[in-house]
Amino acid sequence: MKTFKLYAGAVLIILILVFKGTTVYSQKAENQVPEPKVIQPGKKGKAPSDAIVLFDKGNLNNFESIKDGEPAEWTVRGKKFTVNPKTTSIQTKEKFGDCQLHIEWNSPVKDAKTGKQGQGCGNSGVYLMGKYEVQVLNSYINKTYPKGQAGAIYEQYAPLVNASLKPGKWQIYDIIFTAPRFNSDGSQKSPGYFTVLHNGVLIQNHVEIKGATRASNGKSPITLPELPIMLQNHSNEVSYRNVWIRRL
Ligand code: MG
Repeated sequence: MKTFKLYAGAVLIILILVFKGTTVYSQKAENQVPEPKVIQPGKKGKAPSDAIVLFDKGNLNNFESIKDGEPAEWTVRGKKFTVNPKTTSIQTKEKFGDCQLHIEWNSPVKDAKTGKQGQGCGNSGVYLMGKYEVQVLNSYINKTYPKGQAGAIYEQYAPLVNASLKPGKWQIYDIIFTAPRFNSDGSQKSPGYFTVLHNGVLIQNHVEIKGATRASNGKSPITLPELPIMLQNHSNEVSYRNVWIRRL
């Protein structure tokens, strides 16, 4: 009899635990969040319906020179634009913090043919908030230091793998960026993070940003919540196309 009571007690406790667990997962978590907004995803990497299109063709009206208020003087040809080495880096007119950025880029075949190597071969860069660089470089059979190759968070994190295509091929970055937050006294409240896919392959997995990277735009205070996105003129004629962004 005593054994039966113990057995029945154990079964009852298990049933209570299972029931409580079921309650937590099947009821409490449900119905307490707003219904996600309906959007239309873009076809083949094109902008979803809730994205801001920064460039698809024709003009650089959404960009400016990093010199105050001057127009972006990079070369536009149809659906692409190209670094003009005689000018400055450019930046978006609009400011962004947390975001998802899609950008396609193409390192020139010319650099590889003329024997430019390492950091001099198809170098540009996508600087979130003008401060934090995702490196753009020809990293297809072009040796350099790992924290400086394509997809690196420059001098902070090498990419997990090298997913580079040959120069002359269009390549894709999908960048998910969390901006760092700062207290009013200038100290950091919470760090920033990068997650990056290169040609659809995860190369940075929620890495913590360690501070502004080299050659960042130092004119604006780092503590601001939103800043323009900068594209780097590193004297190589890298091209870009299909640039869109979603605020997060
Ligand atoms: Mg660069």
